[in-house]
Amino acid sequence: MTASVALGMPAVPARLAPRRASRQIRVGSVAVGGDAPVSVQSMTTTLTADVDATLQQIAQLTASGCQIVRVACPSQDDADALPQIARKSKIPVIADIHFQPKYVFAAIDAGCAAVRVNPGNIKRFDDKVKEIAKAAADAGIPIRIGVNAGSLDQRLLKKYGRATPEALVESALWECSLFEEHGFRDIKISVKHNDPVVMVDAYRQLAAQCDYPLHLGVTEAGPVFQGTIKSAVAFGALLADGIGDTIRVSLSAPPVEEVKVGIQILESLNLRQRRLEIVSCPSCGRAQVDVYKLADQVLAGLDGMEVPLRVAVMGCVVNGPGEAREADLGVASGNGKGQIFVKGEVIKTVPESKIVETLIEEAMKIAEQMQADGTPSGEPDVTVL
Ligand code: SF4
Repeated sequence: MTASVALGMPAVPARLAPRRASRQIRVGSVAVGGDAPVSVQSMTTTLTADVDATLQQIAQLTASGCQIVRVACPSQDDADALPQIARKSKIPVIADIHFQPKYVFAAIDAGCAAVRVNPGNIKRFDDKVKEIAKAAADAGIPIRIGVNAGSLDQRLLKKYGRATPEALVESALWECSLFEEHGFRDIKISVKHNDPVVMVDAYRQLAAQCDYPLHLGVTEAGPVFQGTIKSAVAFGALLADGIGDTIRVSLSAPPVEEVKVGIQILESLNLRQRRLEIVSCPSCGRAQVDVYKLADQVLAGLDGMEVPLRVAVMGCVVNGPGEAREADLGVASGNGKGQIFVKGEVIKTVPESKIVETLIEEAMKIAEQMQADGTPSGEPDVTVL
């Protein structure tokens, strides 16, 4: 069982496609676009005017790995809260502004790292673009042109009949052109739609027509299960083609969940160093242990581990030894026992009741060794200016 065999598995490519060449902008301490790592962002759900609650949620998001946070600014009370939030947040804060240009200036003055405006709701902005561009340029902060299918410019709705990919792209590029007229190109763009197929098409068209960095999002993606699948499918298609510079998963769930999903998507595509990865089989009629329970228990025991450890939990000897051997650590179960593999070698065979504790014990040893050897963790690469 311990003999080394060639498994003929293809090597996982480091990247699926070269990254699209985009301009690089800076959202506070986080570079977006160019060769900067794809960043993960989210949005608070608190009343922005409630400074304590908002800062508390930002702290939770920061702890979960969120790199950029957006806060809504629909009222003067929210605008008044921005200076304190921008100053105290450990990650860059973007003010999300619709309808009222005065809040754009307030956000810039407050020290926000960027401002998001929506061309569909920007009617009252259009005659202020020159002033906005100047204020943003003077402060050195970028603007996100955030097009959303649900609030598409009426002119384009009439022209296209609905929020088609072409309509979303035209709306974004039109708004960009208004800023470009004033020499302002410190811009990133999003063209969000709730249908991943429309969204992917829109971003592909946009990517071909400009070099601005792109913020990916499937808008109103739904509750956790549906939203996760939609976002993973859409982001996966785009990121695999090298399109996308920062991502926001939109879920009808606490924003920390969005960050977890976003990070997992990047790790799955090798766009970020993987952390703990459980390779577990789906089980079948050959399984000689309860694979679901085993995998859940191992995951629970190792949750939060930052080193890129791959643990294989396999139900029988069909694929078990092969997968267990390929992982850093693994178990191939059978006949009430588990063969424990470390770095491709069987180190011991334990009774089924000892499989979980043995795997956790061995995982801790390997993790310690990895940390001592300086193995990179899954922490995002954030440049602090
Ligand atoms: S490893 Fe064994 S139990 Fe698991 S799915 Fe494959 S054949 Fe079935």
